[in-house]
Amino acid sequence: MKVLVTGGLGYIGSHTCVELSKKYSVVIADNLINSKIEVLERLNSIAHSKVIFEKIDLRNKKEVAFLFEKHGDISGIIHFAALKAVGESVEKPLLYYENNINSLLNILEQVQQRNSKINFIFSSSCTVYGQPIKLPITEEEPVKKAFSPYGETKQICENILSASSKLNKYLRSISLRYFNPIGAHESAMIGELPLGKPQNLIPYITQSVAGVREKLTIFGDDYDTPDGTCIRDYIHVTDLADAHIKALEYLIEKEFSTNEVFNIGTGKGTSVLEIINAFESSTGKKISYKIGKRRKGDVDATYADNKKALKSLSWSPKYSLEQALESAWNWEKNYRKIK
Ligand code: NAD
Ligand code: UDP
Repeated sequence: MKVLVTGGLGYIGSHTCVELSKKYSVVIADNLINSKIEVLERLNSIAHSKVIFEKIDLRNKKEVAFLFEKHGDISGIIHFAALKAVGESVEKPLLYYENNINSLLNILEQVQQRNSKINFIFSSSCTVYGQPIKLPITEEEPVKKAFSPYGETKQICENILSASSKLNKYLRSISLRYFNPIGAHESAMIGELPLGKPQNLIPYITQSVAGVREKLTIFGDDYDTPDGTCIRDYIHVTDLADAHIKALEYLIEKEFSTNEVFNIGTGKGTSVLEIINAFESSTGKKISYKIGKRRKGDVDATYADNKKALKSLSWSPKYSLEQALESAWNWEKNYRKIK
């Protein structure tokens, strides 16, 4: 079975390709807007079967049509490709709407023209829940007004996919709402590779410990949490990758068209200060930090109720927080050739 992975050279996509390659033939479509071509070689050095790469800009209808013509035997699609920087999306909303929404529409237009079953997984995010009413967050939590154009594109894309699945009897789809993916493949050959200054906590920590960035600033310690710093649900990227395989298998078994959503998180909340302690104890490295102002748009606490995924997808996270943090550091060391 051939699976198309859009954005497969990115952080989560590359880890998912490694897991997919154990059983499926994998085609990546990526335009390298937020990834480097060197990831392909790294990925293929640990993949179980060779992954094919097509340099395609998914905003371009003609290129997408060419992709589907060339790989007409695709029966699964995992759609990771999107721009994902919340702050940038506030500054350049049109870029985000254009990229994230048109890419999905162009793919669905091709899917619509086929007369065979297609299994589709969309990368959504816990940002769709905004400030949660109840913790842990179940899939029943209402989707709230998005804080940013990025978050809004996730909501719109979920809706587009749902509408399309209702009309197309061949389409089976799932939106996976990720919590906070962290860490790297155990080989340390692939990992999170942000272009420019990392916006996320873990790559900022590993780069600051590696001496590439200034000391970490904790964005606020006056939140309504036990130690005052924000709480998130951090999940090892390999566990997240595995959730995609399980979701694909779930859809393959489905006889009729469907559209479902699943939370993918560990179910455990961890504060920024707890992350710092866990990183120091699992790697033996000290993190220098200072307390700064709150970052706009951050919610106090968010973590998943993952029971639906555990039950229906027969998926469960295997890695601990310490293992995830250690793998993130091993990747940083390997990439920068630090002893
Ligand atoms: P990433 O930026 O590392 O990977 C995305 C990939 O998509 C990149 O390789 C980029 O070049 C490619 N891409 C973007 N626009 C494209 C286009 N028009 N045509 C072709 N390729 C294009 O991001 P990631 O962290 O791996 O995230 C993957 C998906 O998961 C995204 O949809 C993101 O919104 C979602 N997500 C990520 C997180 C997170 O914390 N990383 C959390 C929730 C959801
Ligand atoms: N954070 C921080 N300093 C940083 C980056 C992030 O204190 O340099 C905090 C951020 O305020 C949030 C948590 O770390 O409370 C996780 O942030 P990240 O951007 O990794 O993920 P988010 O939950 O925003 O998607």
